[in-house]
Amino acid sequence: MKAEERRELWGELSLIEDWIAGGVRRARPEPDFAAAEAAEAAASDRAAGRLRAAESLGEIEAEVAACGACRLASSGRTRTAFGEGVPDPTVLVVGEGPGAEEDAQGLPFVGPAGKLLDKMLASIGLSRRTNCYIANVVKCRPPENRDPAPDEEEACLGYLRRQVALLGPRYILCVGRVAAQALTGSKDGINKLRGRWLEFEGIPLLATFHPSALLRDEALKRPAWEDLKVLKARMTADAEPPPSDG
Ligand code: URA
Ligand code: SF4
Repeated sequence: MKAEERRELWGELSLIEDWIAGGVRRARPEPDFAAAEAAEAAASDRAAGRLRAAESLGEIEAEVAACGACRLASSGRTRTAFGEGVPDPTVLVVGEGPGAEEDAQGLPFVGPAGKLLDKMLASIGLSRRTNCYIANVVKCRPPENRDPAPDEEEACLGYLRRQVALLGPRYILCVGRVAAQALTGSKDGINKLRGRWLEFEGIPLLATFHPSALLRDEALKRPAWEDLKVLKARMTADAEPPPSDG
C-alpha cells in the first residue's frame, strides 16, 4: 500500500474512532507511513530477487543436466546433482561431488554422509529447508568415488561460481579438502585449512572435515564441532545490532 493511501485510511479510521468516542477530535502521533511503504517495497524487491535467483538457478541446472564438458559425463553418471536448498541462503555448503545415492537421486548429500551433514548443520540452526544451500565442486559422480581430477574440477567450477553469484550466501562452509582447496586455491591439507576464516570472492569461508571422514574416524567429530562453533559464533555476532553510543 502507498504511503498516501495509508495516510488517508488512517485519517478515516481516526475520524470514526473519534466519532464513536463522542465526537471529540483527539491528537495522535501519526505513524511513519513512508517507512512502512519502504519496508514493504524492500520485502517485495527481496521476493522478486529470490524469484529471479530461483529461475536462473533452474536455467543453470538445465545446462548442467546436459553438460558434457569433462569425462565425468561419460564415466557412468546416472543423474547430475546440481544443488539443493533455499535461493537466498545464509550459508552455502560445498562438498566434493556426488556419491552413489546422490547420483541415483540427482540431489547432493542424500546418502549416509548427507544424513550426518544434515545433523551437523542442525546443531547450529542450519538446514537446507530454511537457510542453507548445498552444492558440490563437481556435479557428476566420479567413478568409484575417486577424487575429482584437477581438469574435471576446472571444467565444473564455472557452474559453482554462477551458483555463488546468484545465491549470494553470507558464508561458505566447505566440507573436506577437495572443496576447501578448490575454493581457496590453496594446496594445504584440510588440517591446515579448517577452523579459520578464509574467503572466496569476498565471502567469508570456513572449512571443516567432510562428514564421510567423521563416519570413518569418530575422533574427528570433536574438532569438527569446534569448527561449527566458529561459524555459529560469527553468525551470531554478525546478526547482533552494532553497539550504540547513546
Ligand atoms: N559427498 C560429497 O562430497 N557430496 C555429496 O553430495 C555426497 C557425498
Ligand atoms: Fe559437466 Fe561438471 Fe558433469 Fe563435468 S562434472 S560433465 S563439467 S557437469
